Amino acid sequence: LRAAAMAETVTGAQLIARALVDQKVEYMFGIVGIPIIEVAVAAQVAGIKYVGMRNEQAACYAASAIGYLTGRPGACLVVSGPGLINALSGMANANENCWPVLVIGGSSDRNQETLGAFQEFPQVEACRLYSKFSARPSSLEAIPCVIEKAVRSSLYGRPGAAYVDIPGDFVNAEVKSSQVRYSGCCLPPPISLADPTMVSQATSILMSARRPLIIVGKGAAYSRAEHSIRKLVEQTGLPFLPTPMGKGVVPDNHPLCVSAARSSALRNADVIVLLGARLNWMLHFGQPPRYQQDVKIIQVDICAEELGNSVKPAACLLGDVDAVTKQILEHLERFSWKFPSGSDWWGSLRGKIKANVESSKALASQTSLPMSYYTVFRHIKELLPKDCIIVSEGANTMDIGRTVLQNYHPRHRLDAGTFGTMGVGLGFAIAAALVAQEQNPQQRVVAVEGDSAFGFSGMEAETLCRYNLPVLIIVVNNNGIYNGLNESSWKEMMMLGEPAKVAPPVCLTPNAHYEQVMAAFGGKGHFVQTPEELREALKAGLAEEKVPTLINVMIDPQSDRKQQDFPWLTRSNMGRGQ
Ligand code: ADP
Ligand code: MG
Repeated sequence: LRAAAMAETVTGAQLIARALVDQKVEYMFGIVGIPIIEVAVAAQVAGIKYVGMRNEQAACYAASAIGYLTGRPGACLVVSGPGLINALSGMANANENCWPVLVIGGSSDRNQETLGAFQEFPQVEACRLYSKFSARPSSLEAIPCVIEKAVRSSLYGRPGAAYVDIPGDFVNAEVKSSQVRYSGCCLPPPISLADPTMVSQATSILMSARRPLIIVGKGAAYSRAEHSIRKLVEQTGLPFLPTPMGKGVVPDNHPLCVSAARSSALRNADVIVLLGARLNWMLHFGQPPRYQQDVKIIQVDICAEELGNSVKPAACLLGDVDAVTKQILEHLERFSWKFPSGSDWWGSLRGKIKANVESSKALASQTSLPMSYYTVFRHIKELLPKDCIIVSEGANTMDIGRTVLQNYHPRHRLDAGTFGTMGVGLGFAIAAALVAQEQNPQQRVVAVEGDSAFGFSGMEAETLCRYNLPVLIIVVNNNGIYNGLNESSWKEMMMLGEPAKVAPPVCLTPNAHYEQVMAAFGGKGHFVQTPEELREALKAGLAEEKVPTLINVMIDPQSDRKQQDFPWLTRSNMGRGQ
């Protein structure tokens, strides 16, 4: 029998599928076409869940979300040239977010290269800028080892994107199984610990802090550090602040969470423990006026090159967030140290939290129509189940939504992320719904989208319907990007001339019926204008078990964020949005 098996031949497509199974890749998202149709079929035969998407961007976003949610990369399968180029958006987004993803691209037959082959493009070279690893196997026999290396590269160290190029003539070519070097699954990522002298330096800095703060980033969420970080927070009594996707590592409603005093906490802290977050634009570079000039940063990161970016750290802890947090805890145990809850620092943070919570309450209780962002989010917040996964994108929709909607569990928020990518929402929601279906079928996935953001990948509504994924999409519709016009102002504007000459570039069609997009494919659609309609639609959508729902919520096109202490990170600096 064994001899017979060794004499057997396998195709390139089968080798790819088997290699993916060996590397424990469970999901594949893609769009088939020449030359990779057989790869998708072989993957399905091998037991990989294949999801056919409508645009390679969304396919790659979905595959990367699988990587973040499960710790094992999803695969994204694309055709040559334009297909691969669409997927670059997803690779860039994954790489910037430090999420593992594996892209497999078909490419031209080798004997046609440089001759102007169908969809010919220098794919391996193109992917280098968007990934940690980009290569083409030199032969069919080499496929398993290259896929092993790609998956390993995506997971080890700072996670990111990997690319494997498959020439069209590899797909149906055959090779004797006995000639193939099967590599077996790569080992789990090695866990690295910080230098013990740095750990003790960090703890002594921390224990002498007067206004300490812990910042929890999505690196901590990826590292599954929720138990150790919660223990650190509770044992030390330190205030903590999550970044957008660090939300839920420790629940947002934890008494030590100071999100509601974010600006003030950042501006006044004298020591910051930075757990798996970068001092990039999202954290205002760690620089004045948003921070103290001489703030001491205790930086914990798995990527050595990250240490010292923007601010010279007071202590560098190179290693896995979870493991290093345990080291810090162990070291602190000798001192049984706790930051006093009666300190001035806690007093000022609590005062700020109270004032901010009250002003938000006032905004949320407005009853005027059309509704404002704050009114809409208040009702959404009241009705969402605590364990739902929240996907969110848009400018105001995402920014305001993040401050109102709470996360109680780690890795339960997926948004535009480090790269600020609009169009990720539906791909992320599809990935999250597939994982939920497998691990917790009761769990709901809710995508809170701006109307512009929804437009980037809106056709994935068809994908949701085809796979019976009961995702709830809420489009917070203000007729435009940042701010649109209401119907009558739009009509007045049109009297002045052709839309291309007079319509403000931020405008989209007033009262666009996005819910009909979902209804077109068999999903449920609701058009809502009042809080009562919104609540009814939310209840109905959350009760659906097989069918996706889209609730199109009309809000005041001029609704805006409340006044900020530092308004510079709003429209002028934010690129496209909502
Ligand atoms: P956020 O957007 O939440 O601020 P970033 O994506 O900017 O987070 O930063 C996440 C950081 O976490 C990156 O610098 C990355 O290198 C780091 N990281 C990722 N995984 C781990 C891990 N297992 N342990 C430690 N750091 C990690
Ligand atoms: Mg909008």
